[in-house]
Amino acid sequence: MGASRIVILGAPGAGKGTQAARLSAAHGLAHLSTGDMLRAAVADGTPAGLRAKEFMDAGQLVPDEVVFGVLFERLAEANEGYLLDGFPRNAAQAEELDRQLAEQGAPLELAVVVDVPDERLVARLTGRRVCSSCGNTHHVEFMPPAKEGVCDKCGGELVQRSDDTEAVARDRLEVYHQTTAPLIDYYNARDLLASVDGDGPVERVTQDLVEVLSRDVAEQN
Ligand code: AMP
Repeated sequence: MGASRIVILGAPGAGKGTQAARLSAAHGLAHLSTGDMLRAAVADGTPAGLRAKEFMDAGQLVPDEVVFGVLFERLAEANEGYLLDGFPRNAAQAEELDRQLAEQGAPLELAVVVDVPDERLVARLTGRRVCSSCGNTHHVEFMPPAKEGVCDKCGGELVQRSDDTEAVARDRLEVYHQTTAPLIDYYNARDLLASVDGDGPVERVTQDLVEVLSRDVAEQN
C-alpha cells in the first residue's frame, strides 16, 4: 500500500502546489494548501484573514494559531488521505501536526521534498501566474498558457500573486531557509523522508512523485 498521509516540503516556487494538484485528483487525496486557505480567508475578510494579511504581504509566516485554525478542521475531514502543501513551515507546526495526528490514530506516512536549486526559484516565483477563477498555475516562460493571460484549464484571468514580486519572493526564500528547511532533518530523523528532483519538466517530476508515493510505506527508506 502506498502512502496517503503526506507532507510535501520544498521552497516557495519549487512546484509543491502544481504537483499536489496533479497528484490529488489521480490518487483520491485531498490537496490541503494552507497558502490557499489563508488567501481565501483574506479574500473573504474573515478574522483569520484579517490577521494573516500583513504577514503574507511581507513574505513572513502567519502566526501558528491562525494557521492551525484554518487547517485542522479540514485535515480531520480528509479521511481518504491528503497532501499537505505549505504546512508545516516550522518546528512548532510539525510538532502540533504530530500531536493532532496521534490523537486521530493516523500518523503521517511520508514527507517528500521537491528539491529545486535556489538560483532557479526567484525566476519561478516572479514569472508565476495564477488563475483568478480556478487557482491553476502557469508560468510566463516555463509553463505558458496557450493564450497570454488566460488560464488553459478554465479560461479565467491569470494574475500575479501579490507576494510573487521579486522583493517579497526573496524574503520568502530567506524564511524558508531559516525556518522551514530544518524540517527536512526533523522528518529524516523519523524515517519519513523522501526526495525528488523538482528541477525539470512538470510531467517528469509528477512521475517521480507517483513512484515515491506508491512505494510500500514500510519500504519508504
Ligand atoms: P504559499 O501559498 O504556501 O506560498 O503561502 C503563501 C503565504 O501564506 C506564506 O508566505 C505565508 O505568509 C502564509 N503561509 C502559508 N502557509 C503557512 C504556514 N504553514 N505557516 C505560516 N504561514 C503560512
